[in-house]
Amino acid sequence: ERIRRIVIAGGGHAGGRTADWLRRLGYDGDLKIIGDEGRPPYERPPLSKGLLTGEKSFDDCLLHPEAFYDAQRIELLKGQAATELDVDARTLLVEGGTRIPYDRLVIATGARPRSLTLPGSDLPGVMLLRDADHAAVIKESLAPGAHIVVIGGGFIGLEVAASARHMGAAVTVLEATTQLLGRSLPAAAAAELAELHRAQGVRVMIGAQIARLIGKGAIETVELADGQRIEATTVIVGIGIRPACELAQAAGMPCENGIPADATCMTSIPDIAAIGDAACCFNHRYGRHMRLESWQNAEQQAEICARALLGEQVSWDSVPWVWSDQYDWNLQMTGLMANCQEVVRRGDAGDGKVLYFGFDRGRLRGAAALGRGLVAVKDLRVAQMMIERNVPVEPAALADEGMSLKSLLKAA
Ligand code: FAD
Repeated sequence: ERIRRIVIAGGGHAGGRTADWLRRLGYDGDLKIIGDEGRPPYERPPLSKGLLTGEKSFDDCLLHPEAFYDAQRIELLKGQAATELDVDARTLLVEGGTRIPYDRLVIATGARPRSLTLPGSDLPGVMLLRDADHAAVIKESLAPGAHIVVIGGGFIGLEVAASARHMGAAVTVLEATTQLLGRSLPAAAAAELAELHRAQGVRVMIGAQIARLIGKGAIETVELADGQRIEATTVIVGIGIRPACELAQAAGMPCENGIPADATCMTSIPDIAAIGDAACCFNHRYGRHMRLESWQNAEQQAEICARALLGEQVSWDSVPWVWSDQYDWNLQMTGLMANCQEVVRRGDAGDGKVLYFGFDRGRLRGAAALGRGLVAVKDLRVAQMMIERNVPVEPAALADEGMSLKSLLKAA
């Protein structure tokens, strides 16, 4: 079958990059992106970082300037949600009633932030952060005199906290569990990160249970279960995301944690692919499905999906990698830390660089690095190569700063 019409539902990072790759790889048929945001595809990492501090503008976040899409004959439908999928007729219904036929459909609808369900959660001034509109409103709220309360000590919450401090606001971070970044960092690393925030003047409260949000007409106070009250001019809620699977679900795909797809990003319906935050693809290396929420994943699955659509033999087998910037610190994580029973540490955050290595049944599976500026980036990259190559290495050797990581990689 000759593919003449490819439609991408979702004009975010992964969707935009897929269109980009399809043209780069020589696909010259019809190509449409249906996006519900009023903007061309852009990268989200700056939304909680440089965009809030003014170091970056929205244009810096764009995958490509808008003119690129015309030049590449990519039809960009902005501000239009895809509402329904007819898998038999192979059409996508778009808000307003237009039916768009496809030969192949790529679902790249990303994720939506979870909202709080506590009393007062819908007060003005209680905000989520996923898109550029959110970021613009949050940016306005950060200033000296502002009291920012961040709910959730995950990546987004911590980055917003750092940006808000940079802008001179008073900042409190409320984390309900026993540590920051619980899904990604070992407890010791998370404790070090908490100290970095405290050193910048952030009040970090671990194990904080929130009772309700209070305000007359707008948010004023966050009340904890123990009765403590925290003043708030703005509350930013960063408590995770839910993959946007409505289209796939309505088409009969069971979506427990994202849209299931194989290692080529194809779903159980042969002409439909799913990628990015919305997708739960089979990772060949790990032998199981996984849903990642990262820039790297959006980039890589866009390429894999485009190649697979054009008939290439490809297979997703990436070792996950994610970074975060907070103050002048850069945090990077690779592999899977979550299941590691043994964690060793190398270096000291006090000296500006610390790494953690996680072992599962004697094998190096995950690494995390925290460094002032980019000092830990190379080490983390070596750790990632060790994981990729499944290099046998002893925890004690990695903990020993006298042994160079490169030599350990080479020796294997
Ligand atoms: P998105 O980029 O969210 O794109 C999905 C698009 O689909 C959106 O535009 C959405 O509105 C649209 N859409 C949804 N439903 C429909 C529909 N029915 N019809 C039409 N359009 C629809 N990752 C890192 O690795 N490092 C970082 O430092 C980092 N920082 C981040 C900071 C912030 C504030 C955020 C929000 C994310 C950050 N990420 C980071 C994660 C990274 O941005 C995401 O993993 C990535 O954007 C996922 O790409 P995606 O295309 O799957 O989803």
